Amino acid sequence: MRTKTFKGGVHPPESKNLSKDKKIERISPPPELTVPLSQHTGAPCRPLVKKKDKVEEGQKIGDHDAFISCPVHSPVSGEIISIDKFPHPTLGEAEALLIKWDGGDRKNWDSEDVDLSSLSPEDIRKKVREAGIAGMGGAAFPTHVKISPPPEKKIDTVILNGCECEPYLTADHRIMLERHEDCLFGLKAIMRATGAKRGYIGIEDNKKDAISLIRYSTEAENSIEVVPLRTKYPQGGEKMLIKAILGREVPSGGLPLDVGVVVSNVGTAVAVAEAIKKAKPLIERVVTVTGSGVSNPSNLLVPIGTPIRYILDLCGIRENARAIIAGGPMMGISQYTLDAPVIKGTSGILVLTEEEIIQDKEKPCIRCARCVDHCPMGLLPTTLAKLVKAEKWEMLGEFNIMDCIECGCCSYVCPSKIPIVQLIKWGKIEYRKITSRG
Ligand code: SF4
Ligand code: SF4
Repeated sequence: MRTKTFKGGVHPPESKNLSKDKKIERISPPPELTVPLSQHTGAPCRPLVKKKDKVEEGQKIGDHDAFISCPVHSPVSGEIISIDKFPHPTLGEAEALLIKWDGGDRKNWDSEDVDLSSLSPEDIRKKVREAGIAGMGGAAFPTHVKISPPPEKKIDTVILNGCECEPYLTADHRIMLERHEDCLFGLKAIMRATGAKRGYIGIEDNKKDAISLIRYSTEAENSIEVVPLRTKYPQGGEKMLIKAILGREVPSGGLPLDVGVVVSNVGTAVAVAEAIKKAKPLIERVVTVTGSGVSNPSNLLVPIGTPIRYILDLCGIRENARAIIAGGPMMGISQYTLDAPVIKGTSGILVLTEEEIIQDKEKPCIRCARCVDHCPMGLLPTTLAKLVKAEKWEMLGEFNIMDCIECGCCSYVCPSKIPIVQLIKWGKIEYRKITSRG
């Protein structure tokens, strides 16, 4: 099989065997769920309900007028217990609605045969917005915004990201195997909404079963092609995918739409299909629960707002478990409490053991340039780290700090164990402050 790729990147151990053959299981909701009002990039929602209100499954419970925002919905039928600050898996703490499930039957979201040609691009965008869909690969950018390119940006291609290049995670792999028809429907819907004439599904070559299955189901499709990609982290980064599949370079500071492309995750495509065929909002998602600290690694369909604690009780947690990460080991975020809930962008819950998290002490930089060789964005991570340590914020722009995709390859390969990506994240915050002041 011929595979394509990009320059740079790393090959961490894949560790996908723990869960890759585990079929997606839909779990029953917990007694109480916390649904954050901010689960996406953009303006946080404002609550549309108040304490003691009764809510239905799928009812919109938060929204905002801003273009870059998307609504949130109740994942269950029940009652609003409170609206307050609660733990959040990426923000630490944020406003959320605490909902008590009434234990009632879950709604049947019946599917209708929909002819996409009967829907205008605007119809599709409206349905996607009303369903509260935000990118499910991690960045959680509102999908209706992504598929509303300004008129001067002509989109010719949509790429579905089926790489799942983060070690351990297998949710997207299972989605491609078990929901391939909805993946394709979602891709076609996004192509129609953006006017793109070509669609690609990029899949790493460690998922040969998904490549064969989706190739088979797209045999009759002239405008859609499956592209096997070399297994390498971060192959699923938008800019890496575009380079590998189309040979196009997204310019520094630019977006995929600057080169005529929209990239979407396979899970997001399934959510788009459900929004159109079932009028179902994004109220549950597939989460890989895995790691040496989990007794029964699984791929679970989890209601949004379910606390991590409830999921780990279902899968079992080993005695030597020490670190809980929302997401994968490269870009995931360590959790300080198991009360944080699953949100729209939570692709995995990774539990690592004591032995796996022992960290060597940071040593001085030996100028080996490994971080430079492996940076997929062609940056100078060692220089950026030094500038941040010296608090030379104004110089960070000269070294394109904002192009860093925070993939962590530089930290991963650094023999001196310098926390380069953490330094760069800090540098970005400070750089944004000085540039926003003008
Ligand atoms: S500098 Fe940024 S983009 Fe480059 S390897 Fe480090 S984290 Fe990745
Ligand atoms: S990999 Fe680490 S030690 Fe080598 S140049 Fe980069 S920062 Fe320095």
